[in-house]
Amino acid sequence: MTTMPDPKVIKEPSFRESVDLMFNRAAALMDLPPGLEEKIRVCNSTYTVRFGVRLRGQIHTFTGYRSVHSEHMEPVKGGIRFATSVNQNEVEALAALMTYKCALVEAPFGGSKGGLCIDPRAWEEDELERITRRFAYELAKRDLINPSQNVPAPDMGTGEREMAWIADQYKRMNTTDINAQACVTGKPLHAGGIAGRVEATGRGVQYALKEFFRHPEDVAAAHLDGTLDGKRVIVQGLGNVGYHAASFLQYEDGAKIIGIIERDGALFDPRGLDVDTVRAWIAKHGGVTGYPDATHSADGGTVLEEDCDILIPAALEGVINLSNATRIKARMIVEAANGPVTAGADEYLRDKGVVIIPDMYANAGGVTVSYFEWVKNLSHIRFGRMQRRQEEARHQLLLDELSRLDKYLGDAWSMTPNFKSRYLRGADELELVRSGLDDTMRGAYQSMREVWHSRPDVADLRTAAYLVSIERVAASYRAAGL
Ligand code: GLU
Repeated sequence: MTTMPDPKVIKEPSFRESVDLMFNRAAALMDLPPGLEEKIRVCNSTYTVRFGVRLRGQIHTFTGYRSVHSEHMEPVKGGIRFATSVNQNEVEALAALMTYKCALVEAPFGGSKGGLCIDPRAWEEDELERITRRFAYELAKRDLINPSQNVPAPDMGTGEREMAWIADQYKRMNTTDINAQACVTGKPLHAGGIAGRVEATGRGVQYALKEFFRHPEDVAAAHLDGTLDGKRVIVQGLGNVGYHAASFLQYEDGAKIIGIIERDGALFDPRGLDVDTVRAWIAKHGGVTGYPDATHSADGGTVLEEDCDILIPAALEGVINLSNATRIKARMIVEAANGPVTAGADEYLRDKGVVIIPDMYANAGGVTVSYFEWVKNLSHIRFGRMQRRQEEARHQLLLDELSRLDKYLGDAWSMTPNFKSRYLRGADELELVRSGLDDTMRGAYQSMREVWHSRPDVADLRTAAYLVSIERVAASYRAAGL
């Protein structure tokens, strides 16, 4: 029997407390030396900056943060968020998640996160550029943006454009730094970015699910069977992460997107929605309201609670909490957002048998490809540039031999049409990035899964993920002599 604490009696913990509770749950199953557990859990530092920018004839003051959770590896890594809801508690929780996420996918970084309290839609592009540059200046002068110490990336409310401004600002302040481009990731391709970074988090969500469905035992734990084909999916948030995840799952894996939840309500259609058509509608009308071919509910929360196979919260933290957890009907939840399930809701859903693919794994595709971008920037060369034609030449050798055989065998055997062109092509940067991401997502899943299945005291993937991550962070502290 799963009992739900009364939300009026048991207060929902804050986001940071939620992350700490989940950490503690895992740490209790470990044998860490006294003091080390505390050292890993606490956030090392949070810098708060208030700066003024003269805009529209007056000085506007903005508040921003950059929190560094753990420096067991440097640089520390994590996005910068632009939203009015940004606060110190949130930034610290997100920085902690970055530490565990990087450890889990073996990206050699500590954890960090930044945020600026701003509604980006309230400002014109040139105003936003001035604000972003000023924020970047404040951080860079304290080495909170630095290729070897702290490397930001996009997050909610920011993207390639903001990263390009930040990189340029850093370059202006460090004119002789040959590695200046590596001071931030998620840049546009023509400004030091890497192919596949924009869709990386969504792609990672897809790869995470594909890997999950390779293990029938795990699929059965979610009371599901078969493959992703035909699975009923509800996505919350059709932003960069949610859109890419949903479109890959629909167009490449045959999943049915039956619900899409946005700021102004939700769409529901058990026959399946077309992600691109909905996305185009949102781009034109600013929201899902009025979309003709589906049921619209003004209260998006109701669709979050609809029956489905896979629920993908890809927007804000804390959306599945003590007030709605009992009504969630999804068989499994994939945390594309950071912290979408609170510690209390997590406990309830775990007891109920809902499989949760935890954020630190599910959305790690972004930082994984950021890692590739950072390496590309430091090596000053595009991935595949040296090997691609050589690879093609070697493939050509094999094809020449096969062609001889083809002629020799006559009608008995011939090469499949298109084989030549498909085989001949050497991998370009995008293919290499996808291969690296796929390998990373598979490897990280295996490491979580091994703990999940081998330890009777570990009931869920989140605790398993924390165990793997904390152990890796602890090992790196031990190696450093702490
Ligand atoms: N903001 C993303 C995250 O939460 C990406 C971080 C990065 O690429 O450094 O994982």
